[in-house]
Amino acid sequence: MTSDVTGETSLLLSGTDVAPVHETNASGASPFLFTCDHYGRLLPEKLGDLGLPESERVRHIAWDIGIAGVAERMAIMCDAHLVSQRYSRLVIDCNRPPAVASSIPRLSEATVIPGNEALSAEDVARRRREIFDPYHRRIDAIIDQRLHAKRSTVLVSLHSFTPVYAGVARPWHIGTLYHRDTTLPPLLLRALRAEGDLVVGDNEPYAVSDLTDYTIPVHGEARGLLSTGIEIRQDLIADQSGQQQWAELLARILSEIEVQLRAEQNI
Ligand SMILES: [Zn+2]
Repeated sequence: MTSDVTGETSLLLSGTDVAPVHETNASGASPFLFTCDHYGRLLPEKLGDLGLPESERVRHIAWDIGIAGVAERMAIMCDAHLVSQRYSRLVIDCNRPPAVASSIPRLSEATVIPGNEALSAEDVARRRREIFDPYHRRIDAIIDQRLHAKRSTVLVSLHSFTPVYAGVARPWHIGTLYHRDTTLPPLLLRALRAEGDLVVGDNEPYAVSDLTDYTIPVHGEARGLLSTGIEIRQDLIADQSGQQQWAELLARILSEIEVQLRAEQNI
């Protein structure tokens, strides 16, 4: 991977670190392909604790609290392939274009990240090469393979959001996040609203854009796939019963949407 004289020592990930890409139910038959960019909060051993106390390293700034448990369950319930990234978004954010400042944040919400200050170009390149690139190359390869096999592919990017950001409470239970796809997000919004007891965000708490997102613009929109992001509020999925409940709800809704997409020959 690297060709300089220091060899192995120039790598970010060492023998004790796990691979960034984690896959679940890779043989899943569903048209839905799930991604989870902020699944984990691991830090490579060489980065230590990034200069942060544990209280910061378990917060939403490090990962999407609760979404791993929802995503794993949804992959099984929907018989869908799930691709996840295990390292903290504080190491490199896998849903940001690498060129933007928030790719490797020096400040997240009000927390300064000491381990992200004064990075050399090579430090930045290592994080990209060893974490960001393998994750996105794998998603690319999976989509290539599916298209080659003429399998319908609908990209659903799973996230969670903090109930309070910078002192402002967020009322939504769940949000649908999208940009260019005009087919799937309206179906999802309608289905969530039909539940009757949910506060549903339409591109809330944020919208997808080319500058603030990577997975949907690059793997969904640029490849012409139906695509949407789903954001669930973290306090609702903090424990296993919440994760189970939300996975069941979303699995049921996605199976209804699959029927509609097929009936309208969108997949
Ligand atoms: Zn996220």
